Amino acid sequence: MTPDLECLNLVKKFGATTAVDNVSFDVPPGSFFSILGPSGCGKTTIMRMIAGFLDPSSGDIKIRDRSVLNTPPNKRPVNMVFQHLALFPMMTIAENIGYGLRRNGLPKPEIARKVDEALERIGLPGIGNRKVDELSGGQKQRVAIARCMVLEPDVLLLDEPLGALDLKLRERMKVELKALQAAFDTTFVYITHDQSEALVMSDQIAVMNHGRFEQIGTGRELYYRPDSAFVAGFVGDSNRWAGEITRVDGDGLEIRTDSGLLLRGASHGRVLSVGEKAQIFVRPEAIRIAHDAGELDHFDNRMTGRVTSLLFNGAASRIIVQDPEGREEIEVNLPQSGEFAGLARGAEVQIGWSGAQGN
Ligand code: ADP
Ligand code: MG
Repeated sequence: MTPDLECLNLVKKFGATTAVDNVSFDVPPGSFFSILGPSGCGKTTIMRMIAGFLDPSSGDIKIRDRSVLNTPPNKRPVNMVFQHLALFPMMTIAENIGYGLRRNGLPKPEIARKVDEALERIGLPGIGNRKVDELSGGQKQRVAIARCMVLEPDVLLLDEPLGALDLKLRERMKVELKALQAAFDTTFVYITHDQSEALVMSDQIAVMNHGRFEQIGTGRELYYRPDSAFVAGFVGDSNRWAGEITRVDGDGLEIRTDSGLLLRGASHGRVLSVGEKAQIFVRPEAIRIAHDAGELDHFDNRMTGRVTSLLFNGAASRIIVQDPEGREEIEVNLPQSGEFAGLARGAEVQIGWSGAQGN
């Protein structure tokens, strides 16, 4: 199937800075594709090149198999939603949604029909005559998306649209945006520095760092099979140890951490040898906690530790455990059973996790 969007060896230099450094990807029709990376890594620069506001230094951009490099921004079959999704406060909802259609000179009845259809699509039929300030925050977001979607872009570009919202609304809008994308069956390219936004909404995520794509994959692939230390550290939370490999045994390995712990891990298919520097990443939810060391016998990593912090956060509650020599602070998710609900700071606990089978 022809991708809706293809970027081929995209490069953008600003003087001595290479903001986008040889980035290639394609986005299949009707999918939700996110570019995830820290501030300043080059995300907006990619979007501006796709939208046509900025020329690439080299490389090509194709939409439905046609290069758009020589097409001016207003003629490209893309639409861009900016950071605030702002609506025009003096206009009605219908006038807001029809804004681009009016500018394109469509006849009135056709505009009215398309606006009604869009309101239907976003689950807000019949509210066209209302004013913007009569809507809730979530409804405004939907109207802002509808305003772009009536123009029927092949690709909708969204540049951190939830950044300015408070946490509660942001959580809800993640679900809504994904539903809207499915309702309009249009390709969304979404950029964010927030891993949870990317994980929740995307079919595919590209993790970006210093102008380059480190890895492209589904949320699951990035989370469970990160290709690089950057991806492992950026997607999801991890305990991280740096050290030297002391043993390699099939996919399993042993590492002596710089702090002196001996840990077992897995190479996940990478070719590694004894003496090499490496890092081990262990997810807080992969570590089990027990009162009695015997319960953890089946794990190849075990430790006695002391609880230094309790981080209550409902179902995502954690503790921080310090090893006996006080060298390491290890984040461990608390089980849902409530068995450890009464843990106090300073309590001794046993922790263990499986290294050789991977985490
Ligand atoms: P992000 O959106 O990931 O935060 P940007 O794409 O905005 O990152 O910026 C990437 C890099 O390019 C930054 O170092 C930024 O300072 C630089 N940059 C962006 N736009 C320009 C510009 N017009 N002129 C010079 N440097 C720029
Ligand atoms: Mg940006």
